[in-house]
Amino acid sequence: MAVGAMAAKDLGATSVAVIGAGIVGIAAAYALARRHGVRDLVLIDEREPMSLTSAQSGENYRNWWPHPVMTAFTDDSIGLMEEIAAATGNRINLTRRGYALATRRVDRGALVEELHRGYGAAGTSGIRVHEDALAPAYVPPRSADWRAAPGGVDVLCHPALIRRIFPSWAPGIATVLHIRRAGSISGQQLGQFMLEALRDAGGRLLRGRVAGIATTSPFRLAIETDAGPATLRAERLVNAAGPFAGDVAAMLGETLPVACVFQQKIAFEDRARAIPRDMPFTIDLDGLVLPWTAEERGLLASDPATARLLEPMPGGIHCRPEGSESGTWIKLGWAFNTAPGEPHAEDPIDPAFPDLVLRAASRLHPGLAAYLGRLPRNARQYGGYYAMTPENWPLIGPMATPGAVIAGALSGYGTMAACMAGALAAAWSAGGAVPAYAEALSPRRQADAALLAELAALNSHGVL
Ligand SMILES: Cc1cc2nc3c(=O)[nH]c(=O)nc-3n(C[C@H](O)[C@H](O)[C@H](O)COP(=O)(O)OP(=O)(O)OC[C@H]3O[C@@H](n4cnc5c(N)ncnc54)[C@H](O)[C@@H]3O)c2cc1C
Repeated sequence: MAVGAMAAKDLGATSVAVIGAGIVGIAAAYALARRHGVRDLVLIDEREPMSLTSAQSGENYRNWWPHPVMTAFTDDSIGLMEEIAAATGNRINLTRRGYALATRRVDRGALVEELHRGYGAAGTSGIRVHEDALAPAYVPPRSADWRAAPGGVDVLCHPALIRRIFPSWAPGIATVLHIRRAGSISGQQLGQFMLEALRDAGGRLLRGRVAGIATTSPFRLAIETDAGPATLRAERLVNAAGPFAGDVAAMLGETLPVACVFQQKIAFEDRARAIPRDMPFTIDLDGLVLPWTAEERGLLASDPATARLLEPMPGGIHCRPEGSESGTWIKLGWAFNTAPGEPHAEDPIDPAFPDLVLRAASRLHPGLAAYLGRLPRNARQYGGYYAMTPENWPLIGPMATPGAVIAGALSGYGTMAACMAGALAAAWSAGGAVPAYAEALSPRRQADAALLAELAALNSHGVL
């Protein structure tokens, strides 16, 4: 030992070390303890649990995807959230007003076709097209109760119907796809619930940074703790390090096909009551060119960094009331960034983002224009990294290193998918049964050229 160097404290041995106490690592640890009886589990994080990406989530969920594998995966995860909601008197604040996807496109053929592709053969009967203004079979999203909402998708095609259901929207919306198994959840409450259950089952939370892993049997983890260096032996590992899953993979001598892309949101008190409190999570699907004055255009054009804001921008601008019907806050987001970033650096919060998202969202919600240049002082802007594979599917399953499993790359859907991601990671780790789609979500799909080609050919990867 070098003079002055501290001897690493021996933290003993565990059957499974889960690296990362975000919502995904917590869910994996919970499933290992609750479903597979692992009592001596150690969940390691250098930060407070749920404080990195998981603290930035918009906390929305949906079973709407361009491919049936993701539909099945999120359907299963939503089922697990519903079980927790039912067992806890809805401690996790699960609501289900759906996702309302709005478009000005009258020709809805391609949209409906994509719905059929995404929901697969089993979901086809749940897609209901309402051509007339009265649509007597349509159940409006008046209740937030997840047990009261229908399943499937309602396609609203008549302007008078759309106006009646969504009176606050600007005219011109020709089609609404109303996804019914969708809504919001308190991700923090979900994480807290599973952490408590994990502790009750004997699991331990260890504060420290995993700085190195010796791939001996058992694994030997070098951990930097506040009290100094420590080592822990673990028979098995789960890599749930969120945007740093690549670092943990590198400790095992592996690389991951994952990029980290920074996305932002804003939340503020809607004093002007621009957004009805019972409005579902609403997404404006249509791309746009942002409206600027001639003077603004000149200014933006003069700087190459801002000139891109004059170009056509993608759709996907979203808005919802935050909290209960008696609340006043709303949330807005727009995941238009596609450039990979560097999660080790300071977060690249863009001071222009609130203005951009407000301008874009005002097209569908004209009442929001009242806040342009006048956001309440206590408005919050926040952001985090979507850790993403090129196909926007997660990586959940065995890594190349025997005994190591990854639960990562959950992009912008890790809150809604956490319960099933955790259940899958735990099953892979403990040798339990996994559903048919699990292989396709595992790192092994990288060897499936036909699947990767199929996914590359899709119009959308479901990024929101
Ligand atoms: C702006 C934004 C909006 C979003 N909206 C939604 C939404 O509406 N619905 C939805 O379902 N999802 C949403 N998401 C996605 C969701 O938040 C993430 O997919 C999810 O939180 C990822 O969880 P995680 O546990 O994988 O990662 P994290 O929460 O980042 O947790 C990883 C943990 O690993 C720890 N760690 C990393 N390396 C080490 C190490 N070497 N040693 C010890 N600890 C380590 C970190 O400290 C961290 O706590 C959104 C994300 C963003 C950024």
